[in-house]
Amino acid sequence: MFDKILIANRGEIACRVAATARRLGIRTVAVYSDADAHARHVAACDEAVAIGGAAPKDSYLRWERIIDAARATGAQAIHPGYGFLSENEAFAQACADAGLVFIGPPPSAIAAMGLKAESKRLMEAAGVPLVPGYHGVDQDPRLLRAEAERIGYPVLIKASAGGGGKGMRRVDAPEAFDEALAACQREALNSFGDAAVLIEKYVQRPRHIEIQIFADTHGHAVYLFERDCSVQRRHQKVLEEAPAPGLTPEQRQQMGLAAVAAARAVGYVGAGTVEFIVEQPLGYDHPEAMRFYFMEMNTRLQVEHPVTEAITGLDLVEWQLRVAAGEPLPLQQHELALHGHAIEARICAEDPERGFLPATGTLHVLRTPPHRAFEVGDVRLDAGVAEGDTISPHYDSTIAKLIVRGESRAQALARLDQALARLHIVGVANNVAFLRRVVQSPSFAQARLDTALIEREADRLFGQAALPTPAAVAVAVAHTLQGWRQRTDADPWSAGDGYASHGQRSRRLDFLVGEQAVSARVTWRRRGTVWLQVAQGDGATDAELCWHTDPGGGWALAVAYAGLQTRATVHAWGERLHIFTPQGEHVLLAQDPLAHAGDTATEGGRLTAPMPGKVVAFLVQAGDAVKVGQPLAVLEAMKMEHTIAAPADGVVEELLYAPGDQVTEGAELLRLRSASA
Ligand code: ADP
Ligand code: ADP
Ligand code: MG
Repeated sequence: MFDKILIANRGEIACRVAATARRLGIRTVAVYSDADAHARHVAACDEAVAIGGAAPKDSYLRWERIIDAARATGAQAIHPGYGFLSENEAFAQACADAGLVFIGPPPSAIAAMGLKAESKRLMEAAGVPLVPGYHGVDQDPRLLRAEAERIGYPVLIKASAGGGGKGMRRVDAPEAFDEALAACQREALNSFGDAAVLIEKYVQRPRHIEIQIFADTHGHAVYLFERDCSVQRRHQKVLEEAPAPGLTPEQRQQMGLAAVAAARAVGYVGAGTVEFIVEQPLGYDHPEAMRFYFMEMNTRLQVEHPVTEAITGLDLVEWQLRVAAGEPLPLQQHELALHGHAIEARICAEDPERGFLPATGTLHVLRTPPHRAFEVGDVRLDAGVAEGDTISPHYDSTIAKLIVRGESRAQALARLDQALARLHIVGVANNVAFLRRVVQSPSFAQARLDTALIEREADRLFGQAALPTPAAVAVAVAHTLQGWRQRTDADPWSAGDGYASHGQRSRRLDFLVGEQAVSARVTWRRRGTVWLQVAQGDGATDAELCWHTDPGGGWALAVAYAGLQTRATVHAWGERLHIFTPQGEHVLLAQDPLAHAGDTATEGGRLTAPMPGKVVAFLVQAGDAVKVGQPLAVLEAMKMEHTIAAPADGVVEELLYAPGDQVTEGAELLRLRSASA
């Protein structure tokens, strides 16, 4: 076994690898960019080497510097994590040339699986089932179009070199083919430096089920069962679980053996994942009729590997290290068994209400449920950040991964729901509340899974920032009054519109929830209790409010109002009160009537970058007349493309940047003269 390894990654996965290395007595070397000098992964390792600027191309992708760092610190092996250099065969080869062990498959296996089209040709030869499609070398657009006709719409155009859900377009009808092809090729060239595409039949009611495999240098290969990653947005995973609901032991074995065959066909070594797209021809209630097809192989450890660890009780990073050190696989196929059920939720800095736009900022509050980190537990939380850290625009939007395990799927689901309720994040837009709604949705709860689950359940998943419950308003009021009590200098009863009549003192508190006004009138009845009237929309609730602090269990306040007892934690961030209760999160803006004098209306006609990024393309030219909602420009940031749409009908006056330009947040991209102006 190695004495010392270098971890060529950052964030939660670098911390994850370091945790196992420490447990095994292996010393670790971190590498970090200028933006990450104070990052958790640096602290998690024994040594750290600075490798350059914030942008990945200046640091985490500079492999000659990483190899120099390994040499300089005496590391014997390099763990690439996922993303960055993990599937870069030239890097794997460079490690070998430098006398370092690359903790991953041989370069030839990475190369064989690197291009989707080529790997499909290989898999076809190995007898692994494929989705009907075209994966040829000839890229003549007329041929591609004819192939799409032959396959039959809807089809999926994919960048052969693609990954991370990028460079993929679903096309439903021939009229839309040419435009989709052009978009896909542009994205492919821009992101992967290779415009080649393949075309596949778009599988109906598709489920994404993948098999974790492991192979060693002694000719052994096993499968560690499956993960169902059907719940996706933008072709990217949101929730992952193991085992896949409804899969029979026979199907599991068939898929497992097909995955092992795929791995053997390319001389695979180490951890890998074979992804299958699964058709449900008879619908959700007939999983026995599912048909699976090879989609691609990811030649690395995957983000969602903890669910496999949870059901097998194994440490996959330990297996990686053992295999890389030349040891045989710790267990054989017949010694592997799965127990219980596990689900992972990806906690991301993004705004589900705005097309999952990635967000940046400081994690003012990051409170977590009781958990284990980087090892199997009923509740596991793997994070590369802590409270006070920032989510920067340079890297992906992951805040943490929350993994729960239970005896049954129902128990895992309940644990996930409770854990999400106790994961409190303030300061950066995030998907925690959205994830809870997904977990509670009938489709997910009943395991009616396919990759369109989020779209199918859209009505209950989006636009739910409705009026808070009276209990939530009561919590906001209790929190405010609590603050007044602690500030004995302030006497709120004589300020503002407080008044006294019939010996009762009363005071009004106003809140905004989105655009909606909520008003609360507090009347001091007797010492220790107040009477609270909550008015919102057309309704009003009138009742006694009692509360006390520190009820235990991690919540800060216990509030009784209108016959309901609620436990809650409130985090004030500026004027915003983030109220977390076991039922959910509410954000109330405490209104100070004077604070709004300086509000400015949003400026018409200006189109600005929502975050720092790179201009990929302008879809219009100066002088073009555009309609509201029409896509104008494409910006790439945080590993995603964002379309900037026209806020109103108008005429494009000027483009202010060129494709390829780097822009800062708030930079005006183009000038639009609105039709009404
Ligand atoms: P990536 O390299 O971006 O992960 P994949 O080929 O693995 O690309 O596909 C990503 C996702 O796209 C899948 O998980 C699935 O949701 C969807 N997808 C891929 N191929 C098909 C297909 N033929 N039919 C329907 N959906 C598909
Ligand atoms: P305590 O004794 O619980 O610390 P105090 O009676 O000293 O609280 O009051 C502290 C502040 O809280 C004062 O400004 C007072 O106006 C306000 N306050 C007192 N009782 C109430 C009540 N029932 N509801 C709301 N505010 C109150
Ligand atoms: Mg994939």
